[in-house]
Amino acid sequence: MLFDSHAHFLHDCDVSAQLTRAREAGLSGVLACGGGPDLDPGAIAAVRAFPGFAHLALGYGRDHAHENPSIDTLRDRIESLAAEGIRTAAIGEIGLDFSRGETPAERAAQLALFRAQLALAVELSLPCTIHSREATQETLDALRELPPEQNRRNILHCFVGDEKLAAEALALGCSFGISGIITFKSADMLRGSVRTMPRERVLLETDCPWLAPVPLRGKPNEPAYIKHTCATVASLWGITSEECAEITSENAMRIFSTGEK
Ligand SMILES: [Zn+2]
Repeated sequence: MLFDSHAHFLHDCDVSAQLTRAREAGLSGVLACGGGPDLDPGAIAAVRAFPGFAHLALGYGRDHAHENPSIDTLRDRIESLAAEGIRTAAIGEIGLDFSRGETPAERAAQLALFRAQLALAVELSLPCTIHSREATQETLDALRELPPEQNRRNILHCFVGDEKLAAEALALGCSFGISGIITFKSADMLRGSVRTMPRERVLLETDCPWLAPVPLRGKPNEPAYIKHTCATVASLWGITSEECAEITSENAMRIFSTGEK
């Protein structure tokens, strides 16, 4: 049993082939993440094609902040999908990325969109899958304003080992999505962090089609490849891959309430 807690399906990928291979590789589920008009169609297609296996996350990523997208439109979309029998399992991906020399106005727009979607998650009682890059302080400030039960459902996706973010987000009750980066030679800081992290706070993810793990680095990533990430985390914890898969899948299924209809 393995669960990919953060996957994207771009317009040019074969969703059915990828999810068939994921099932064959022993996955019990995948969170298919939207993030805007570029990512939402693939996520919805995955959930329509593999109901009960692919679970939906919808939200506006930071790249859409300058468009000032409507939270009401997002809420309406979640409601109309629900009327069709498609449950939204999480808000995401959402978050902050200040790694490209964003101006103060661009940062403010990202922050406003991030906070508005965190508020929507509270309103709808949904977990969030959160991107945070070079924005540790701003991310933590926003999370600190949330009710504790929301932070227990929030996941810092593609966590790379930032010590401050780890310590403070752990204290808030958040969980961490560990990607194929943990298999990279350069990821000593991340491996050190995950080694001592409470195991009930760790989820595995691919962030496909990006970040393929070693030994597939450089190839387009897909959910089936999560086994390599699982093997690395298992070795850090001194347990078997099967045990690591079990623990991290249970964490994902608890947070995404995948048993619910
Ligand atoms: Zn992502």
